[in-house]
Formats: sequence, structure tokens, C-alpha cells
Amino acid sequence: MATPLDSTPVEELKGIGPALATKLHKIGIASLQDILFHLPLRYEDRTRVTPIGAAQAGTQVVLEGEVIACDISHGRRRSLLAYLEDTTGRMALRFFHFSRAQQNNLANAGRIRCFGEVRRGAAGLEIYHPEYTRISNATPLPDHLTPVYPTTEGISQQKIREMVARVLAMMEKGQALSELIAEHYRYQGIEINDAIQLVHRPPTDANTDQLLAGTHPALQRLAFEELLAHQISLRLIRETIQSKKGHPLRAPLADYQSLKDGLGFELTAAQRRVLAEVADDMCKPVPMLRLLQGDVGSGKTVVAGLASVHARENDLQTAVMAPTEILAEQHFINFSQWLAPLGITTAWLSGKVKGKKRNEQLALIASGNADVVIGTHALFQDDVEFKRLGLMIIDEQHRFGVHQRLALREKGQKENFLPHQLVMTATPIPRTLTMSLYADMETSVIDELPPGRSPVTTSIIADSRRDEVVERVKSACSSGAQAYWVCTLIEESEALQCQAAEATAAQLVEQLPELNVGLIHGRMHAGEKTRIMAEFKAGKINLLVATTVIEVGVDVPNATLMIIENPERLGLAQLHQLRGRIGRGSAQSHCVLLYHAPLGQISKQRLNVLRESTDGFYIAEQDLQIRGPGELLGSRQSGAIAFKVADLLRDNHMLQDVRSAAIELIAHQPRQARAIMARWMTRPEELGQV
Ligand code: ADP
Ligand code: MG
Repeated sequence: MATPLDSTPVEELKGIGPALATKLHKIGIASLQDILFHLPLRYEDRTRVTPIGAAQAGTQVVLEGEVIACDISHGRRRSLLAYLEDTTGRMALRFFHFSRAQQNNLANAGRIRCFGEVRRGAAGLEIYHPEYTRISNATPLPDHLTPVYPTTEGISQQKIREMVARVLAMMEKGQALSELIAEHYRYQGIEINDAIQLVHRPPTDANTDQLLAGTHPALQRLAFEELLAHQISLRLIRETIQSKKGHPLRAPLADYQSLKDGLGFELTAAQRRVLAEVADDMCKPVPMLRLLQGDVGSGKTVVAGLASVHARENDLQTAVMAPTEILAEQHFINFSQWLAPLGITTAWLSGKVKGKKRNEQLALIASGNADVVIGTHALFQDDVEFKRLGLMIIDEQHRFGVHQRLALREKGQKENFLPHQLVMTATPIPRTLTMSLYADMETSVIDELPPGRSPVTTSIIADSRRDEVVERVKSACSSGAQAYWVCTLIEESEALQCQAAEATAAQLVEQLPELNVGLIHGRMHAGEKTRIMAEFKAGKINLLVATTVIEVGVDVPNATLMIIENPERLGLAQLHQLRGRIGRGSAQSHCVLLYHAPLGQISKQRLNVLRESTDGFYIAEQDLQIRGPGELLGSRQSGAIAFKVADLLRDNHMLQDVRSAAIELIAHQPRQARAIMARWMTRPEELGQV
């Protein structure tokens, strides 16, 4: 049998030289299998030639004809303009980027076939930058849909198609990917080579909607295997961790009790239950791995505080990590207040702590003189040495992503000991997803809010009524309340988001001269952000215009009004998080979702869910149900796993089967299980080597 394509390095493929190989390695393509797993983004139908006379603006067409002229045109922008002619008509082909060689080549091309989108231009119907090849009468048309691949700098669409075509040709000659899943576990029994073949070469009658949405059986077959690989890896990680030693703690003592007594409020039943679960775990000789889910404002921080005291009572240090400076700083303030009276020392480390100050903190941590260390991911840089780290607490976990979390565990390992780990998240995750994302952890849930809060009411208002909303802000702030005005924009672009916030703030300053309007966004210096937050907290700023940076960590009970602009751009989970910044005191709070009309049916439905409920878990479940494939959504709530094919929301229906297949494979075919994992996971921390 020929070598399976799985392990054949790309260097062995014809047409791949060292330079290209290096580029491929950079994007994670090392084997021929990886080339096959580089899946199309979409497809084009190039199986039929359209007569030029019948080509219409706005459609993509394949045309064939003679090049009858090819000259440089000096219009508004210099371009190369060629005309293609068949018996039915004439089409202009325009190139804004071209070389002298290309000009000559095209001028003498004779008969060509080209593909592109027809548009109306200065020369009538035109195609900008068509793909074209010279043909003879016998050149066949493709008999399948043409895949369009994601490209990166330096590797063209053409090149990728060529590489895939070569590997597919090898498959036709009998080489193959290894089938790693026994038939009865496979999704619909589909063989991997068949699935791969179909995805790259879909027959013309294939269901393209399904292919694009990822619901085509061939893609589902691949998604299943990918989810399986992920599940196996998490389970193996858990096994590895449980084979390590933990630091078994004694039952909590006097300090623990006195912190509890001195809080100034009664813990809720849910907090007490979760505290008991955490304390029990840490008294065991294996490392704790616990995920604590609790809605915004449910009081997770105090659980973390008590756990750190528990560790301290056993002479162990605690590291508390938060994803942003603002959040870390809030924790630092809270923890210091709780712990200082008990004689427990707190250290602080973030990216902005530098030089001498940083060295001081590092010394405190290394000598063990700091009992609890709070910070951002700066905590896990190489030069941070703990004397005896016993507990790691990671807040707002979804911001970090699963693999970062796994990598962190390594950091805490000393010899064969691993610290206990408590991961806290406010993103409510439906149970089925928890199973898949956190198969390596136990979970605890705080499912009630502290008493005495009036739930936030929410209204949905079109931005044509913006003036009314501004009035409302004015009257709320005049009577002593504070408000947030949250600007959202294209999520990918932080720069644009900040610009929008600046513009909005300027406008509101003008409209509300009697108020003190503040601005906070992600591009400000950490010190600047902290100063603004402190002013807002002290009541000096009435209205705070913000980007979504305020999503986590801000705790200002006097803020009772929040306006969210363009809420339709965000995911429900994120909106829920944002809204959790108000309703922190006993006064009635209100949230206005200021949408931009017109709103699609699904968006409407989604925003209604927020108006109707403040229960994060309910909202998450509804979100999952409403999300249809076509609708573009805001930030994903499913964590930061970069799947190649799978989509946890779309493929939710198969998670149960994935889970049982993973359990059986690990138990009965451990080698097979590892092979599946290795196929899909390329980074070492994904491979359970933690
Ligand atoms: P989150 O779970 O969102 O991190 P926090 O821990 O920040 O919530 O708690 C939100 C607020 O509720 C804080 O001001 C905290 O002191 C307060 N809090 C926590 N637990 C209780 C409780 N049992 N009773 C009253 N207030 C509480
Ligand atoms: Mg919190």
C-alpha cells in the first residue's frame, strides 16, 4: 500500500519548492493531509459558458471568445482594457493592476476562456480582473463546482487550487487518507476520503446551500471527526492531570470564617453550595479542576476570595488572573480590602507594572511573602516564579480561550504537583456546550442573585428616536443617577470602534452641556482608563461613553441607565454581559437597546429575548435556538476555539454522540483515539501534553 497522505510532507508534492513550503508551514500546512483539510470558503459554478450577448450585470459568468483589442485606457484611473468577442456580443475586460508582459500576453492570446463578475462600467458591460486562460476548441469545462479557498499573503488562489488538484490526482491513483473511525461511529457512515473528495470537487448538482452552511453530510462527517478529536484531547488532558498530585488542604479554619462573617452580607444558598464544592475539591489529593459559572453580579468574586484564604491557611499562594487591567484592578481592590485585615499580603502584576516596581512584586512572589497575587496574563510570563503556588483562579474565562487555559496549567506545575484550578465565567453556557468545551472540568453553578436587587428593565427603541433617549439620559443624570452609553461597531475593528465612541462622545457633550460626559475605549492607555473609571465610580462623571471594554469588571452601583447603540451587532451573551453592569444597586435600572432600523426578523426575535428575560442561562439557550445558519452574529459565546470545520452551535446536535464515541475510543482503541487527535490538533497544548 502507498504511504497514507496523512504523513506525507508537503515538500514531496510536485510544484512546492522550499519558499512555498515555508509559507505553508507558517499557516499550519505541513502534510498533504493538511492541504486536503484546507477547505473551500465557497464555490463558483464554472461548468457552463454564457454567450457574451446574454451576460448580465451582477452575475458571475464563464465567457469564451477572441481578444480583439488590448490597450491602455487613461480614464479616471489608468487601466488595461481588452475586448472579448464571440458571435453574440462583446465584453470589456478591465485590469487596474497589470504588467507590460501581461498586456502583450493578452493582446496575442487569441481565444480565451474567462471568469468573473459582470458590472456596468465606462465601456458598457465590463469584468474587472477576470481570471482567464488560453484555450483551444477541445479544452474541456470543469465537470464540478469550482472551490474558492481562503488565501493568505503570498499563496494565491491559483496555487492553492493547483496543490489541491495534485493531491486529489494522487488519490485517484490509489493514495488515500487513513480512515481513523470505525464505520459504526462515523457520521452517516461516510468514509473520510469520500467526504474530502466531495468537498473539493462537488458535483454540479450538489446542494451548495448545504455546502456553504456546513450542513452538507460530507462536511458534517468532517465536523464530527474534528469535534471527536477535540473531545478526546480534553479527556486525555483530564486523565493526565488526575494522574498528578495536588496539594490536599485541611478543612477551612478561623480566617476563612472571619472573612465570611465580616463581609457585611449573607452569602446566598448558591454561593454556600459552591464554596463547599470548592473547599471539598481542594481537600483532595488530586488537583481541583473546576469551572464556576454564575451570571453577572451573582457574586463569584467572594467565592474566589474565600478560596484564596483557604489556600493561605495551608501556606499556599494563590494567583488570580483577569483578562483586562480594569478587571484585575477591581479584584485587587476587593481582595486587598478583604485580606489585609487578616494579615494576608496581596501583590499586583500587570503589563503596566514595570522596572523597579515589577522587580519588587516579583521578589514578593518568589519569596512567598505575597500570599495572593492578582493580575492580568502578565502573571504567567516566564520570569514570574511562585514559591508555592497552590491555587490558580482565572476570571472571565471565555476571554482566554480553552487552549490558553490549558497552557496555563503547565505554568503552575512543579515536579509532579499541580495547583488547584478554579475557572470563573459569567458567560452562561448551555449544558450541551459545557460538555464539549469543558469536558476536562467539573462544573459549579451560582444560579441565584443576591437579594435586594431589582431586575433591570429593557426597552427596544429605533435610533430615529435618539433625541428622546438623550432626554431620558438628561433627566436620569439630573436626578443624581449615572449612565453608560455603549457604542458598538464592526467588532473586528477596534480602531473604528474607538473612533465611533469619540464621535458619539463629542456629540453628546454638545447635546448635554449640563452633564459631565466621560469617554473610555480600548485604545487609551491603561492609566487613563483607570483614571476615568475612578472618576466615574466617584460620581464625578455623569455619563460614560464607552466601547465594549466595559463589558467585564466594572462595578458602579449608582449607574442605573445604559444605552446600547446598535445592539443588533452583538451576540446575546455579550449584550447580557453589558447589561449586567447596571442593576447592581437597589434602585431600579433600565437598559435601552437603541437599534438601527430596519431590523431583520431574527434580530428582532433576539432582542426580544433580552427584553423578556434577565436570566443568562435562559438567554443563552434561546440564543442557541434562534440562531439560524444564515444570520451573521456578534461575538461567539462558544469560547475561542478555532475549529476548521465544526461549529459548536450548528453542530450542537451531534455533541452527545461525539461524547460517547470519545469515551469508547479512549477505552477500547487508545491508539486510534490519539491518531484522530493528532490529525486535527496541531498545537502541542492541544495534544494533552500538559
Ligand atoms: P460577579 O459574579 O459578576 O463577579 P461580583 O462578585 O462582582 O459578581 O459581585 C457583585 C456585587 O455583589 C459585589 O458588589 C459584591 O460585593 C456583591 N455581593 C456578592 N455576594 C453577595 C451577597 N450574597 N449578598 C449581597 N451582595 C453580594
Ligand atoms: Mg466578576
